[in-house]
Amino acid sequence: MTGVIERYREELPFGADDPIVSLEEGSTPLVPAPALSAIVDAEVLLKLEGANPTGSFKDRGMTCAVSAAMREGAHAVICASTGNTAASAAAYAARAGLTAGVIVPEGKIATGKLAQALIHGARVVALRGNFDQALALVRELVERHPIALVNSVNKFRLEGQKTAAFELLDELGELDALCIPVGNAGNITAYWQGFHERGAAPRMLGFQAEGAAPLVSGHPVEEPETIASAIRIGRPARWEEAISATVDSRGEIRAVSDQEILDAYRMLAAGEGVFCEPASAASVAGLLRYGADSARRVVCVITGHGLKDPQTAIDSAAAGGPVGVAGGIVSCEAELGALEQAVLG
Ligand SMILES: *Cc1c(COP(=O)(O)O)cnc(C)c1O
Repeated sequence: MTGVIERYREELPFGADDPIVSLEEGSTPLVPAPALSAIVDAEVLLKLEGANPTGSFKDRGMTCAVSAAMREGAHAVICASTGNTAASAAAYAARAGLTAGVIVPEGKIATGKLAQALIHGARVVALRGNFDQALALVRELVERHPIALVNSVNKFRLEGQKTAAFELLDELGELDALCIPVGNAGNITAYWQGFHERGAAPRMLGFQAEGAAPLVSGHPVEEPETIASAIRIGRPARWEEAISATVDSRGEIRAVSDQEILDAYRMLAAGEGVFCEPASAASVAGLLRYGADSARRVVCVITGHGLKDPQTAIDSAAAGGPVGVAGGIVSCEAELGALEQAVLG
């Protein structure tokens, strides 16, 4: 197995002698989703990006952004993040021996992501503000200091992330539509770039959370709010590119509610055996709400792993549990009769 730069070097801006920082990201599973396929009457497949080294698709872009930073002689990288970019930047910087600074909205990032950024040794700055404010500030900061910015405004991030589109085409030959959650809109832009470079044009169906849907309403959202923290973004940096991708592919960007996201999140876990984080379930929530249209083969991008955000899983299981089952867990005395009753109901 190799990382995405080695695997697709001909199609990426890296030469044979460039330094490569990799954790062997990419080559993620593409699994059929029989339960979903039956519901929407199309062949649905799930691209499990949570299987990347740090548990999200951000690693595809980070191998490129950090490798390019090394080539340029950078000593430090920085990003604003809702969590996964921070985790990925921290890991790849550690791998490269670089210093990483990550700016996250205070109290708003999932536990697993915070744990990752900390254990990889990043300087974690909790900003009293939202993601959009954090990104605006780090963009100013890097104007004054020689630190490489590794947000998806960095073109190398998109170069790396487009390899997911290559993998889909290499494995499937063709697909009719791609369902994908949209936050800062880097990933939908990267997939479209990848498809376009290979002469493919599946419909790009992007989904935002209702409380953070600037690309649907057409204007920035000052205080974005949704349970799906990875897409809690009100001013997407790749706004124009995301709109072009949907127009050029005859796709669309639409909104789904938090309730629909949580329903899809539980359905994926209980019905397909796939545990993702809430933002990732937006792609499936969108497919369930709006249908496959005339698409025969649809790929849903499952952007991040469910273990990133254990609290939402526990709360959500508790909320969905049968009456009398506290917290989704059945408490039991250490005695056979009680165990029989607890197990058999
Ligand atoms: C970053 C992220 C997104 C959103 O991707 P954008 O490129 O910001 O649109 C969606 N889901 C997860 C899990 C993410 O980490």
